[in-house]
Amino acid sequence: MSGPESAKLPHGPDIAGSIFTVDGPDLVLGGVSVRSIVAEVGTPAFLYDGAVMRRSYRALAGALGGFADIHYSVKANPARQVIALFVSEGAGIEIASIGEYRAALGAGALPERILFAGPGKRRNELQEVIATGIGEIHVESHEEIERIEAFAASLAWRVKISLRINPMAEAQAGAMRMGGKPTAFGFCEEDLEPVFTQLSQCHQLDLVGVHIYGGTQILDAAALLNQWRHGIRIAGDIATRLGRPLDSIDLGGGLGIPYYAGETPLDLAAVKAGLPELSSLLKSDPNLSRARIVVEPGRFLAGPGGIYVAEVNSVKAVRGTSFVVTDGGMHHHLAASGNLGQIIKRDFPIVAPARMDETDLHPMTIVGPLCTPLDTLARSAQLPGLKAGDLVAVLQSGAYGPTASPGNFLSHPAAVEVLVEGGKFAVI
Ligand SMILES: *Cc1c(COP(=O)(O)O)cnc(C)c1O
Repeated sequence: MSGPESAKLPHGPDIAGSIFTVDGPDLVLGGVSVRSIVAEVGTPAFLYDGAVMRRSYRALAGALGGFADIHYSVKANPARQVIALFVSEGAGIEIASIGEYRAALGAGALPERILFAGPGKRRNELQEVIATGIGEIHVESHEEIERIEAFAASLAWRVKISLRINPMAEAQAGAMRMGGKPTAFGFCEEDLEPVFTQLSQCHQLDLVGVHIYGGTQILDAAALLNQWRHGIRIAGDIATRLGRPLDSIDLGGGLGIPYYAGETPLDLAAVKAGLPELSSLLKSDPNLSRARIVVEPGRFLAGPGGIYVAEVNSVKAVRGTSFVVTDGGMHHHLAASGNLGQIIKRDFPIVAPARMDETDLHPMTIVGPLCTPLDTLARSAQLPGLKAGDLVAVLQSGAYGPTASPGNFLSHPAAVEVLVEGGKFAVI
């Protein structure tokens, strides 16, 4: 849809039309209608459009244009086929557990293209990645450094580490906020002397870089560039204190996607336009000029390509509010229910994927089957008059879906996950 009509669309249909194809009443993913996919696989289902995920990757890679290497952050969506898709596009991988490491290897990632971050890496996890092979371990505690050194010494191997830094100031949209929040991630920027002292006594560790990750769900290009600029400054300071060049600087993930009414996609052209300035900042410092820059997005790459489809079980009018009870809910999609860290609960984009051509829409509250009012997928979604057997689809659901949700709560079955590509689909 285009022109003045589309300007009036509620945000669900608007986002659906900008990412996927709409053919008459049907939302179509990868050449197949949602209706026909779920007729075969059932509901609730997460459907992933491989072409859309590839498009997200290529758009970002195109905008970065060699400024930075992309490592896909596996926690966003650890399905093996999804990881494999990004690996085939050329992505490296960022993992934060041994489970994610094994998933990445299973998907065909090369060990040397995997980065391991996370605040509480266990001894067995460190041992397995070192023995099998790992690109860099991003160390976050003194104990971790000690464990890596001990195990590397027992093998007489060298291990590449990078320091995860907990910044003193946080880069905000236009300014810097002093007194970074206390978090468990990384070493405090203002308290690195003990780390340098410890490292000077480690003989198996090569300190190759720094890792600075500021924030998530950033939709403003200027804010993202500001965060990256801040990361480069911190890296420069640390290299000066070390008195030698860095091989890698990891600027983190956090690239956002629009979820709520009024949000607009991250402007990749504006990101691209800001990169020459950052490149010259890097070039002007001999300690940084040869460093490989890494970004590690998850949500941005996997989110737009996925939808969560549920079937309407019953509809009831309760004191003036229409409640639509579906077979899907927060046990599969905690983020859509507003219970995954959101401060204000707003509606994810949501559509009726087999009734896309209808224009007579009404506000509805979409709930799941769990016995708790927390199990609400939308509070006032504009949808056609739904009845039992109709479908609803939550968009922007390819990241932080099933594995970021309390799947065991109330013991309902897991959602099926399906990858659609080139007119074919398969349960994954
Ligand atoms: C979660 C995480 C990411 C990915 O964050 P997104 O907001 O999905 O881009 C990247 N790096 C680290 C260390 C993370 O913990």
